[in-house]
This record gives sequence, structure tokens and C-alpha cells, in this order.
Amino acid sequence: MNDQQLLRYSRHILLPEIGIEGQQRLLGARALIIGLGGLGSPAALYLAASGVGQLTLCDDDTVDFSNLQRQIIHRTASVGQPKAASARAALHDINPEVECVPLSVRADEAQLRELAMQADVVLDCSDNFDTRYAVNRACMAQRKPLVSGAAIQFDGQVSVFDFRRADAPCYNCLFPEDSHAAELRCATTGIFAPLTGIIGALQAAEALKLLMEIDRGLGGKLLTVNALDMNIMRCTLSKDPACRACMAL
Ligand SMILES: [Zn+2]
Repeated sequence: MNDQQLLRYSRHILLPEIGIEGQQRLLGARALIIGLGGLGSPAALYLAASGVGQLTLCDDDTVDFSNLQRQIIHRTASVGQPKAASARAALHDINPEVECVPLSVRADEAQLRELAMQADVVLDCSDNFDTRYAVNRACMAQRKPLVSGAAIQFDGQVSVFDFRRADAPCYNCLFPEDSHAAELRCATTGIFAPLTGIIGALQAAEALKLLMEIDRGLGGKLLTVNALDMNIMRCTLSKDPACRACMAL
């Protein structure tokens, strides 16, 4: 690290759990962020500010006026632009040292596997079940740690599925694909703006620890947040012996 980097990251380096070694790991790390909306915005901002070496920003959507209430990486002037490009511009302003790779595509199963293979950690910040199951399968296949987040109305959740461990439960163990859980969408049900910030920041925190090999946090656990009563709970997940995604490996 040069003098400017030592200064920029000094408040991380001061933490005994991180130090020069942990910060150096971040500088050499690659993260894949799926979705640059309410969750991906704060997650990407914190990963870039923290100096994660390379961020792949995957989103096929464009910025809409109705996004600006919570998707804090995007600006009013960016309405109509691809979210991946808008996010890249904001991240470059915060930390030009971070290499951002914008991908304005809805990655299919094969692309997700390829992208997961190239990443050290994957953040699922998407807003639909199809993508979550596909990202889960890609991370399982490549044995890459997955930080999964979701938020709707006043309720949010975060889990870490660390597929580097053979006994790790997966997203499908928690929410089986064939259970047909009703999908709620922000466009029709609404969402409390700071909840997306809370969940996205939690995802960034878990991703940074995974990259620094700090083995503490939400691995194999589910954290739920209700932002109305501000009730936060954590429970341990277990692998479902009947999980189709686990059995397909
Ligand atoms: Zn499973």
C-alpha cells in the first residue's frame, strides 16, 4: 500500500481484526453484485469505499424516478440510464482505485456460473425469486460464498451461505423453490427506504468479513429485521436433507 492508501484505509487498519493484512486482502479481492437497486446501492457503496479491488455490477434495468427514494447510488440526473453504468460513475467518484465492471444484462444460468467462478464473494441484491434460485445454484456449483438479502415493506432478511464448506445449507434449503411462496414486489406493495439501507449495509459487512477470512457472523444463519417495531432476530439454519438444489450437486 502507498501512503495515500494507508491514509484512506487507516480506520480499517487500526482495527486489530483487520489490520494491514485484512485491508490488503480487500484490495486484491473481487466481488460480484447482482442487482443495483435498494440493497445493491448501499452494498456497492461500502465495498467500493472499503477498497475491494474489483466489483462486477450486474443489472439489466434503467434508473426510474420511483427508484430514487431508496436506491441511493443513483442520482436524479441518472434517470433513464442503465443502473450498472450509473452505479459505476458513483463508485468511481468515491474511490477511483476500485475497478468496476458494469454489466447491463440479465445474466442467464451459464453466465451466472461464469461470473461466480471469477468472484471471491457473491452478493445477491436482486428482487425476484427466479434470480435468487439461479444465483444460489451458481454459487453452489462454484463453491463460492453467497450473501443473500431481501427486503419488502418493513421486513428484511440477510443470510450467508458459505459453499466453501460442504455442510453449508443453501437458499433453497431455506425457501424451497417448489413451495411457491407468493412474490411481493416493491412496485405494488411498497418499501420503507432505510430498510434497504440496513439490509444492504449488513450484506456489505458480511461480504467484507468473508473476503478478509474473518470467520464470524451470519454463516449458516438467518437474520431478520422488522423496521417498524425495530425487532431484529437471528436463527441458525440447517441443511435440508430433501433439498433438490443440494441433491442436484
Ligand atoms: Zn439446499
